[in-house]
Amino acid sequence: AAPRGIVASSEVEQSYIMIKPDGVQRGLVGEIISRFEKKGFLLKGLKLFRCPKDLAQVCFIRIYYLPFIFSQEHYKDLKDKPFFPTLIDYITSGPVVCMVSTSFVILSCKAWEGAGVVASARKLIGATNPLQAEPGTIRGDLAVQTGRSAPTFMNVVHGSDSPDNGKREIVTLLFAALWFKEGELCQWESVQTPWLVE
Ligand code: GDP
Ligand code: MG
Repeated sequence: AAPRGIVASSEVEQSYIMIKPDGVQRGLVGEIISRFEKKGFLLKGLKLFRCPKDLAQVCFIRIYYLPFIFSQEHYKDLKDKPFFPTLIDYITSGPVVCMVSTSFVILSCKAWEGAGVVASARKLIGATNPLQAEPGTIRGDLAVQTGRSAPTFMNVVHGSDSPDNGKREIVTLLFAALWFKEGELCQWESVQTPWLVE
């Protein structure tokens, strides 16, 4: 039997949060993780990871290198953008910290949808352009870069933009593993839960 109070991960809204290479290089890992911890999200997965660029860019070998392929998949909506090549350079330029955060919101409870970890993490993270991100947000407080020619915003952190993308970016369906493999996530419940949710 499942330990008391633990909810199957498929029922819980999850966001894929990633500290990008500039966040790692600038020594902001602790600062960024602590913002999500203090907010009260549960950390369900965490690893330092370096994705080789050649694998990152070649989509067709996806089925042979399941755990490693992400870029066109991860950023597939952006592949026609002028900054896409620099975005791939940026995101593969060094180690990233991959994280899964969970809130206590049950997805099937429609009234709560959108009030969960995905939307909330996006607010903590702030606007995509670091110069437009509000003070108090991670990007607003910790990033400035808007780039040179065909730039990518160096904005220190990624967060899923919808619950469905959260699922897609974490372990995902069938053959398409993105950032985490089955078994890499840890199911646990924090003793803080009764103090965070009624
Ligand atoms: P996010 O969800 O806020 O991270 O933004 P997107 O998913 O739209 O874009 C992914 C990443 O591409 C961003 O975090 C930036 O690093 C980069 N990016 C997005 N839009 C722009 C843009 O208009 N200009 C530039 N230079 N970079 C961008
Ligand atoms: Mg996005």
